[in-house]
Amino acid sequence: MMSFCPRCSGTLRPRREGGKVYLVCTRCGYRVEPRENTLTISSRIQHSAKEKTTIIEENTLNLPITRDVICKRCGHTEAYYWVVQTRAADEPPTRFYKCVKCGYTWREYE
Ligand SMILES: [Zn+2]
Ligand SMILES: [Zn+2]
Repeated sequence: MMSFCPRCSGTLRPRREGGKVYLVCTRCGYRVEPRENTLTISSRIQHSAKEKTTIIEENTLNLPITRDVICKRCGHTEAYYWVVQTRAADEPPTRFYKCVKCGYTWREYE
């Protein structure tokens, strides 16, 4: 299949560059990145509340700590916390806590 340069109507020829194949105009050097080689990152990834909890739990070292809670399992008064919008945007977000001491995780509605 022959492609033509949108700028000067010259002939586009495939050229491999950095692991990708570009179409390059033989006349003016115009370069086209073919769609099939373009990685689409824009597609949104939907996570369930449970998945979000799991993902965030892997990053607890970066979470803020609150001292206004009491762990229901061990009675410790420090817990990591984070907020997840679990349902529709107009509903209040759910606050999660994770005990610093024993790792017990629970949720609390604001
Ligand atoms: Zn051209
Ligand atoms: Zn605890």
